[in-house]
Amino acid sequence: MSSINYKRVVLKVSGEALAGKDGFGINPEIIKSLAEEIKSVHALGVEISIVVGGGNIWRGETGAKLGMERSQADYMGMLATVMNSLALQDGLESVGVPTRVQTAIEMRQIAEPYIRRRAIRHLEKHRVVIFAAGTGNPYFSTDTVAALRAAEMDAEVILMAKNNVDGVYSADPKQDPDAVKFDELSQSDMINKDLRVMDMTASFLSMDNDIPLIVFNINEPGNIERVVLGEDIGTKIRG
Ligand code: UDP
Repeated sequence: MSSINYKRVVLKVSGEALAGKDGFGINPEIIKSLAEEIKSVHALGVEISIVVGGGNIWRGETGAKLGMERSQADYMGMLATVMNSLALQDGLESVGVPTRVQTAIEMRQIAEPYIRRRAIRHLEKHRVVIFAAGTGNPYFSTDTVAALRAAEMDAEVILMAKNNVDGVYSADPKQDPDAVKFDELSQSDMINKDLRVMDMTASFLSMDNDIPLIVFNINEPGNIERVVLGEDIGTKIRG
């Protein structure tokens, strides 16, 4: 067995990453390849919990801009994360990875309610746990959920999977040819430089709880495994 750098991780996957080239909805091929990647990391003995976003289906902010009441629009966003979580659970189970979905808003017919101790027990029994329905509260993001659940699970790191970006840059590399990639940063650098890898609430929460983050490109096959094996890819953000 290869030597792993982290025993317990939280993987954050944005909804956008599940849409693939379609830009919307859930792409079954992406689910399949993501499930295979998670399977190989799981096989290394890493305890994995996953937070999936919902931006491929719905974002509360978009609804609010269109005139909807913000909380209502945010609840729709949280429901979008449940759809993504169920799709990912299906993908993981079809490659033989035992998985539980826990929702922050009760919907007992389709998933367990979020119970911290039970989630930890699942991880100890080597099941992958997917945290769905956000924090259960409007005005938050799934990045904040990743920081919150990482603290609750006592995870060593948040693996921040990004779509087609291989780390944190000084400027948008697609627009500025002089943009440089950082190998390592602190959360306070991120906040001071306004680098926006995650929203401020999520940044402060990970900083307060001293949880590091690794930002890496999910579109490069094998990257989740590279990160847990300690290869220097992406950008490490100290807690
Ligand atoms: N959301 C929320 N509370 C939470 C987490 C998420 O209200 O605790 C809603 C919010 O409307 C957000 C949507 O769910 O826009 C989808 O989450 P997010 O935008 O974080 O997804 P991602 O960008 O990672 O795909």
